[in-house]
Amino acid sequence: MAIKLQEQLRIDYPDDERLRHAGIRLGILRLDELHPRVSGNKWFKLEENLNAAREAGAMRLLTFGGAYSNHLLATAAAAHHLGWESIGMVRGLHAREALTGTLQECAALGMELVFLSREEYNEKESPRFLDILRSRYPQTWIIPEGGNNEAGTKGAGSITRYLPADSTHIAVAIGTGTTFAGIRATLDARIAMLGFPVMKGGAYLEAILKDRIPSTQNNWSLCDAYHFGGFGRHTEALLSFMNDFYERHRIPLDFVYTGKMMCGIFEMIEAGSLPPGSHVIAIHTGGLQGNRSIARHLCYGPADS
Ligand SMILES: *Cc1c(COP(=O)(O)O)cnc(C)c1O
Repeated sequence: MAIKLQEQLRIDYPDDERLRHAGIRLGILRLDELHPRVSGNKWFKLEENLNAAREAGAMRLLTFGGAYSNHLLATAAAAHHLGWESIGMVRGLHAREALTGTLQECAALGMELVFLSREEYNEKESPRFLDILRSRYPQTWIIPEGGNNEAGTKGAGSITRYLPADSTHIAVAIGTGTTFAGIRATLDARIAMLGFPVMKGGAYLEAILKDRIPSTQNNWSLCDAYHFGGFGRHTEALLSFMNDFYERHRIPLDFVYTGKMMCGIFEMIEAGSLPPGSHVIAIHTGGLQGNRSIARHLCYGPADS
């Protein structure tokens, strides 16, 4: 594997008076430091997909995402390192007109970008559409949006080995829920998991996750109040939390996922929702490249600037 990953991942324990006051230890697992492009949880979800692709004899990856997608970029970077081809199916025809920084970088890594109308994009899981793709792109491993398949879930499950055995709560931001389900399946059932959906109305994920997670692993809950306006949206309060957090602890957060989770964790701690003595590990799932679109609002740069 040509991708050089950080061997030793770090857990930071920020010294913060809000935590001291509540009697809570908060560690941050720095998956964001894994790789500048293949950041965070996306690598774990891809790793197992690459293995499955190799077994299937494929040497080309095809996947789906929006114009700011961390998953598209991670896929492009992984394929580039392996000398494989990659195809990105991008949501929205308008995305072709002015390529975002994310898409420019995907293209520079050799990803072929195919732009789909929203209607076409909504077909991305239909068997008929997948058949068309399979005949148009033979010997190609198709990965669903966000790396949300069985291999992705299994890959995410290996994040569990970095989590301390004496933790009481593990916090993760939720997009598709693949990372959450993968970790929940492999984590000691006594450790609680808190999921932070980043979209509005994230409670719908409850039923989906119930189906995906073994019932013996039911020590989990969703904290769905921290969407800050919806997927890809942000508020003044979120941005000032992220800037303040960086100024205190020099830890950069992204505005789509980890900023919302961390702001949620601190609001819950200040509201007394977590018992004193808790040892919480928040997983920094990366995604910092996505901050390019709001760079002027942040006191720290995106990972790659
Ligand atoms: C994709 C992503 C998530 C969400 O992961 P899911 O497995 O889709 O729930 C969380 N954090 C970051 C930084 C991401 O890029």
